[in-house]
Amino acid sequence: MTAHLNLTDVTLAYGDTDIVHSVSLELKKGEVGCLLGPSGCGKSTLLRAIAGFEPVKAGEIKMLGHTLSTASQNIPTEKRNIGMVFQDIALFPHLSIAENIKFGIRSWSKADQKQRVTELLDLIGLPGTEERYPHSLSGGQQQRIALARAMAPKPDLLLLDEPFSGLDANLRETLVPEIREILKQEQMSAILVTHDQMEAFAMADKIAVMQQGVIQQWGTAFNIYHEPKTRFVADFVGLGEFLKATVKDEYSVESALGCLVGDEPLNYPPGTPVELLIRPDDIQHSESSPLTGRIVRKWFRGSHYLYHVQLEHGEILPCITACHHDHDEGEDLGISIELDHLVVLPLCDPETGVCDLQQAEVVQAQAINL
Ligand code: ADP
Repeated sequence: MTAHLNLTDVTLAYGDTDIVHSVSLELKKGEVGCLLGPSGCGKSTLLRAIAGFEPVKAGEIKMLGHTLSTASQNIPTEKRNIGMVFQDIALFPHLSIAENIKFGIRSWSKADQKQRVTELLDLIGLPGTEERYPHSLSGGQQQRIALARAMAPKPDLLLLDEPFSGLDANLRETLVPEIREILKQEQMSAILVTHDQMEAFAMADKIAVMQQGVIQQWGTAFNIYHEPKTRFVADFVGLGEFLKATVKDEYSVESALGCLVGDEPLNYPPGTPVELLIRPDDIQHSESSPLTGRIVRKWFRGSHYLYHVQLEHGEILPCITACHHDHDEGEDLGISIELDHLVVLPLCDPETGVCDLQQAEVVQAQAINL
């Protein structure tokens, strides 16, 4: 499939301050991408640049092979054929649902407008609501109408800026996969901005994890969770702890858990001090295991417990157990290691978070070339 949207080395600034640094990514037709990162990392600024609201300081934004933005060129927003949905739903309260949806297609013939409204209301599961007004619909229904309104003109790209953050958690749980399904049915290419990893996992084909204006990793949800390329991605996405280890040979490391062998080459020479990522699902509770750890913290998570267990020399590991394994802090928990893929990262200074620079650069380069 050819690229639908291309960002090449895009740098964005407010005044003299660079906010987004040399970002590159590529989205294919019908794909949903996501910009995921903590507040203030530049997600909305990047989205606004794609929409044409912010000029580009360097680099290029292209869609369908046409240049939209460079330092010397900025196609105006209204000529980009891009739809937007914001957190603030902003339906027009005095217009009916049909009138709201028709808003962006007023230049179409009356018959085409009517047909598109019917088609979209069917698609979003709200047929027959044409004559109702926004206030008579729930928050989730209103957000689906806002989506229909943005999709009505058949934009080439839909930009979704934290569209679910005003909704309660239960509603989000059901609405997010529904919205993905709607986008897929219309083969709509879209970019979602969120700081919520579960939302990103449920919506996106590809996720860009951003930190301070830099894309740390661009990959599938599975990739960024199971194969994080940087310490930041490993920390930001999912739970986990880092265990100091030393590379033993191409496939294995020595650690407090003994010699662990992975299924892929490690890309570090033997003897390199590294950190090994341990996810809670890598550590299983096993009553009969000779390996034990002392429970130092415990969280009730509804369907399961999350424990932090401490090994003999102070290393902390996460461990999830079913709810009937209810143990107290201070008890010893038998654990077994179920780790076939080793995620190994350069050693970081725990005080400063600074990694061994030479190795960090190698990992960074790998991440960017994904
Ligand atoms: P995010 O969407 O990831 O929360 P933003 O893109 O909104 O982050 O903001 C990135 C950085 O740019 C923040 O430090 C923010 O304070 C700054 N910023 C955002 N808008 C402006 C603006 N209009 N002028 C100056 N700085 C801004």
